[in-house]
Formats: sequence, structure tokens, C-alpha cells
Amino acid sequence: MKFKSYVCGNWINGSQQGRPLHNPVTGEVVAHADATGIDMGAALAFARTQGEAALAEMTFSQRGTVLKEIAAVLGENREKYDEIARINSGNTDRDAVIDIDGAIGTLKYYAHLGKTFGDTKTIVEPGQDQLARDAVFFSTHLWTSRPGVALQVNAYNFPSWGMWEKIAVALLAGIPSIAKPATATAWLSHEMMHDVLAANIAPMGALNIVCGRGEGLVENLQAMDSLAFTGSAETGRILRANANILNVAPRMTIEADSINATILGPDASADSQVFDLAVKEIVKALSIKAGQLCTNIRRVFVPKSVLPVLQERIVEKLAALKIGNPINPAVAIGPLVNTQQRDIALSGIKQLTAEARIITGGDIPVDLIDADPEVGAFVAPTLLACADPQAGKIVHDLEIFGPCVTLMPYTSLNDAVEMAAAGGGSLAVSLFSNDPSVIATTVVALAPWHGRVMVVDDKVGHNHTGHAIVMPQCVHGGPGRAGGGEELGGARGLRFHMQRTALQSSPKLLDELRDCAVELAL
Ligand code: NAP
Repeated sequence: MKFKSYVCGNWINGSQQGRPLHNPVTGEVVAHADATGIDMGAALAFARTQGEAALAEMTFSQRGTVLKEIAAVLGENREKYDEIARINSGNTDRDAVIDIDGAIGTLKYYAHLGKTFGDTKTIVEPGQDQLARDAVFFSTHLWTSRPGVALQVNAYNFPSWGMWEKIAVALLAGIPSIAKPATATAWLSHEMMHDVLAANIAPMGALNIVCGRGEGLVENLQAMDSLAFTGSAETGRILRANANILNVAPRMTIEADSINATILGPDASADSQVFDLAVKEIVKALSIKAGQLCTNIRRVFVPKSVLPVLQERIVEKLAALKIGNPINPAVAIGPLVNTQQRDIALSGIKQLTAEARIITGGDIPVDLIDADPEVGAFVAPTLLACADPQAGKIVHDLEIFGPCVTLMPYTSLNDAVEMAAAGGGSLAVSLFSNDPSVIATTVVALAPWHGRVMVVDDKVGHNHTGHAIVMPQCVHGGPGRAGGGEELGGARGLRFHMQRTALQSSPKLLDELRDCAVELAL
């Protein structure tokens, strides 16, 4: 099986065999992807002209209907996608829910948002400011769709959600997308796009996909285009420095890796509910998607006196989780995406041992269900403890993209907050505490360094969405090392695809404009 790319209204084959996609349990090659020789300038131009023109004709509500229909097609094929996610990504059923249902839920959310915006195509910010002495000259701000194409480069860990969350926002804004999934897991993205295109829901040119590296895409972006990149900080750096990005300045947003943290408040004693809730989240970080989530907890800051019991409790819970082939329903932890990623993760864990000691895991697990440790891409859930995290460097800097968490003791909450910031900017941080004074001061101190802060107290209990889960209502992205980007966040996501223009005129004209736009503070 070799995947074609859908550009210029056709499925087109790359001219070479391309790179292989594997089954991470058996190591077997399941497909190839290649886009060599495809004219990416033409692909972008087709989307920019045909796709953009068609979407520009549609209102927010009509675009919302398209998103709703896409979600319906994906829902109808749900079982097939589960199977692909298992074969190509090593997903357990629970892993696949996050990626596949996460995509469907996000599409439905944006479909609904489009409906609430009604039959309009522009956004006007509320209120107007008087600019001159006489009340005849005012200003307000107008948002209009940018006449370009959105290039969306994604990471391998979310072939479904990663692609559709970006497309959902772009399409609602009236912008055509060229999705470029990561090659390692492009099968699911390809299959979903194939089904959606076959259903003939979206206008020609609005949805495109490039399977393979896609050389020439970034180089042919123009000023009104955009690049939304999700992946490693290293690739983000390469793209940022691309000559065309520097010269032409298409919009760019980067969602990169980050060393996210969770903090147990000083009141989170071993017999408290918040302690149990934190243990649950940490065990999830060591099991769900085998730790391959960009928002995953990588560091845990815990009061020094509580560390031994926390460590004990996590090890106890991990012992009950079976690792192996996700085809077996007893398996809770699947493999990493391929043996290359496994080897990178294992070598990273080795580097961490310069500053932390391994409590459990740290290697290829031997006791696997229905899988061979020699050929599968398995990494044992690995818990480390760092005795002196304030002196540590690697523990705050190296992302292990797998099931690996490091426990770090703190003596004052202020130290914990400072160490969380030592990650250099992260996507998500969580705090488990019932103490209102702790929460109030800590949240404000954490916020500038993190894109999302989740606070769990007894009242929230189990009714939270999870440290690692990105909700379409909330912005996703983090400062500094995390890329400095922003995605989703409900209507806020539209900002990336629309231009805010200051309008200066008579109040009458501004009022008339308001009549045919949706009024929103973005
Ligand atoms: P990656 O190696 O950086 O690749 C990401 C994407 O960039 C892939 O589609 C890849 O294509 C493409 N790419 C690589 N080099 C490129 C280049 N020189 N020019 C243009 N495109 C290029 O990352 P990954 O291994 O797929 O994903 C894991 C990383 O992503 C982790 O570090 C994780 O933290 C991060 N991540 C971040 C988020 C977030 O929202 N912040 C979400 C998920 C993952 P090919 O696959 O075809 O090489």
C-alpha cells in the first residue's frame, strides 16, 4: 500500500517508493508514503484560488454545516479507524478514543459555533471609541478572512485529532487547508480524508492532503497563507529559519514539545482526595498513548515528606497495568510508534539518570502480552526521582516522548513554581490542592509560563477533563520552548486565519457594518 496525496482536485502519486509506516507491535511495514515530484506551488495555488473562493461565498453557518457533515462521515467509519490506529499507531481502544473521538468532538464543537454565528462572514468587536472632539468620528475593529491557504504540518502522535482540529478552525474561518500528517502514522489521516472527500461534502480545493515529506510546501507559501506546525522544537526551529518564511512572512504558529509539570500542594497529604486524584493523573501520563502526548505530565513537584508514599502508590498502580499488543483487550499500555522512537526514548531516560534515579522501568519490558520485546517498540512505564531538582538541568529540559515521569521534592511552594518555570515555557501545568490561598497565589505565578493551568480540588474531584486533554473551548499552546503558539480556544482560534483591521468612520457606517457581522470580542 502506498499513499497518494490529494491536491489540485486529484489523488496524485509521488514518484518514489517513499518512507515506510510500521506496525509498532510486529515491526512489519504496513504502507509507504511519498509526495516526491508533486508540484507543491501548484497545489497551494489551487487551494488558494478554488478552495478559498468557494469558502468565501459561504457564511459561518454554512461552513458549520460542512463541519457537521465531516463529523458524521468520520462517525460512520469509526470502527475502521480504530483498527488503523491500532495497527499503525499501536493504540489501545482508550488511546484511539482520544485521537478519533477527540477529532469528531472538535469538529462538532466548531460546527455548533458556526451555527451560532449565523449567516455572516465577518466579525466586529463590541463597542466603538470616539477619536475626535465631535462625536462624528469613531473606531472599531473588524475581522475578515485572509485570502490564503492554511498549511498544517502535524506530529505523529495525533493523526486524527491533530489534522481535524486544525482543519475545523480554518474551514470555519473560510480558509482552505493542506494537511501534512507526519509520515509515521499518515495512514489514519489518509483514510479519513479519503472518506470525507468521497462524500463530497466540502467545496473543491477546500480540503487537501500531502502524504510524505512535502518538500516545496513551505517554500511556496505566500503572504496571506499560514503555517501551523505541531511537532518537535527542533523541526520548529528549522521551519522558523526557512528563507521563505523569513522573506514572505506568512502567518506562523508553532506547537512544540514541552516539559509539563504537575504540583501537589502542601496540603495534598497521602490520605487526601487530591492526593489520590494526582496519582490517577500521573498513572495516566505513564500509560495513555504510551506517554506520547505533548501535554503529558513529565515532572511532578511534591512536598518532600510526601514523595516516598507517592512513589509507592504509583508503582503499585503501574504493576496492575498490562503492557503489550493492543489487540488484546487486557492491554492498558501499547508500544511507542516505532523502534526508532523507542530507542530515542530509552536513550533519553539514560540521560536523565545523570540527575535522577530510576524507581521502576527504564528499559524494554520483558513481560509482554502477545508481543515480542525484541521486535515491538515497547518502553516500560518509567518513574524516576530526582533528589535535587533545583540543581537539575536535564530533568527540566529533556522531553522523553514516551511513558516517563520524574518525581521532584520541594520544600517551599515558591520553589515548586520556580522549578515548573524552569521548563522554559510549557503547554500545561496542573495543581492538586484544596487550599484557596495556595491556589490563588500559585495560579497567578504559574500562568505566564504555561498555556493552560488546571486546578483540581475536592469539589472538582473526578469531574475534570484531564491534565493532558486539549479541549476545543480552551486555548492550546504555550510560551517559550513550547513554541509560543496558540490554537483552538473556541472563537479565539479564528484569529489566526482572519485579519483584524481598525476601522475609522462615522458611527452610522460602523453601525451598518455591525448589522451584517457577528459581534464578538476575540
Ligand atoms: P517532528 O519530527 O518534528 O515532525 C513533525 C512534522 O514535521 C511531521 O509532519 C514531519 O514530517 C514534519 N517535518 C519534519 N522535518 C521537516 C522539515 N525539515 N520541513 C518540513 N516538515 C518537516 O515531530 P514528531 O516526531 O512527528 O512528533 C513528536 C514531537 O511533537 C514531540 O516532541 C511532541 O512533544 C511534539 N508534539 C507537540 C504537540 C503540541 O501541540 N504542542 C502535539 C503533538 C506532538 P515527516 O513525518 O514526513 O518527517
